[in-house]
Amino acid sequence: MGTVRRGTNLDRVGGFNDAVVLDAIRRTEHRLSRVELANATGLSGQAISNITRRLLDAGLVREAGRQKGNGLGKPRTLLELEPTGQYAVGVHLDPAVVTVVLLDLTGQVVARRSTETPYGDKPDVLIDGIAATIEDVIADAEAPRDRVVGVGIAAPGPIDVERGVVVDPPNLAAWHLVPLRDELKERTGLNVLLDKDVTAAALAEKWGPHGRGSFVFFYLGTGIGAGLVIGDEVIRGSSSNVGEIGHVIVDPDGPVCYCGRRGCVGETSQPRYLVQQAVQAGVFAQGIDLDDRRAVDAAFAELCSLASEPGVAQKIVTELAERVAKVVEDIANLLDLERVVFGGPHWEQLAPFFGVAVQAALEERFLVRSVHSFEVAGTALGADVGAIGAASLVLDQTFSPALEPAFAVER
Ligand SMILES: [Zn+2]
Repeated sequence: MGTVRRGTNLDRVGGFNDAVVLDAIRRTEHRLSRVELANATGLSGQAISNITRRLLDAGLVREAGRQKGNGLGKPRTLLELEPTGQYAVGVHLDPAVVTVVLLDLTGQVVARRSTETPYGDKPDVLIDGIAATIEDVIADAEAPRDRVVGVGIAAPGPIDVERGVVVDPPNLAAWHLVPLRDELKERTGLNVLLDKDVTAAALAEKWGPHGRGSFVFFYLGTGIGAGLVIGDEVIRGSSSNVGEIGHVIVDPDGPVCYCGRRGCVGETSQPRYLVQQAVQAGVFAQGIDLDDRRAVDAAFAELCSLASEPGVAQKIVTELAERVAKVVEDIANLLDLERVVFGGPHWEQLAPFFGVAVQAALEERFLVRSVHSFEVAGTALGADVGAIGAASLVLDQTFSPALEPAFAVER
């Protein structure tokens, strides 16, 4: 997964090298011996010996058996990450559902909880609830609290990353300029990082089976967004607000969006709109309350399951796929991408038929396909992808050598 970072054999940058070595272990699917670590990182045998001793003492790596000897020299001891060495909390704030996960150092989910986002509550009430759920997942996993290194939040855009503020998320009416990062830090005493939901999801996906190279993570939830990974790097843009594609117009005669225009891809992808179309087409009886989120969710689930058979439901989902494919095509062509990965709260219900329909729509349209193939995939991480990505933001810091300070010392 990307290139292994190189270390530096200068004593003063111990923290830098610790991260380099941890990262080298994380990036290999196998356990590594000290000799292999030295080769991978460019660090001397002596440096590797010191660093691994420090990491063993800190409980961040553990010995994991021995490599079979080749008859020359003694068998080498192998090292792997110690899962219990560190934990990170991930919070995904979606206007419909709040998901909180705890990841161990290897990135595995060891505890999770999700709750419906309380409708219309003041931000304070919701933040109190998130703080309590964070303590719950830590307790569920019986993780020592001093091993929990921080909390990552995946929030709907736009966000003000510098100030840790959620600016004006759609469908969270009471939320305006909420300093979520600091509020949560105050309540939990933990370090807190804030990033956009789609960017967090793309980061999580980067470590999954569809994560190599250049792709767009297409988020289908309360709102539509795109996370970008180009050449194995997560792209954040100038203010970390990359991927605001929800208001691309895909149907000039479509419904009026809250932005004031007609037929935005975000608005025309909402379960509410699709259920309304289904009612109008006679798939469902009149009388579904379109303002009742639960009723709409239930009808949406049924619509998605009906879509696997030819009929009106399938036509509605096919048209959705065509609208989405237009946007995917433009992003893919603009950025020369090789894959779209779908995910988000609405993905799982849509998945069985929608993926095929998007693929078919792209076959008709996609310009780049003459140069290279283009893959349509669904997230491998399920509905928790945003929360897992949020926790990965925190874990990534453990694995990321602090490049600038280390080099600043040397100058
Ligand atoms: Zn709009």
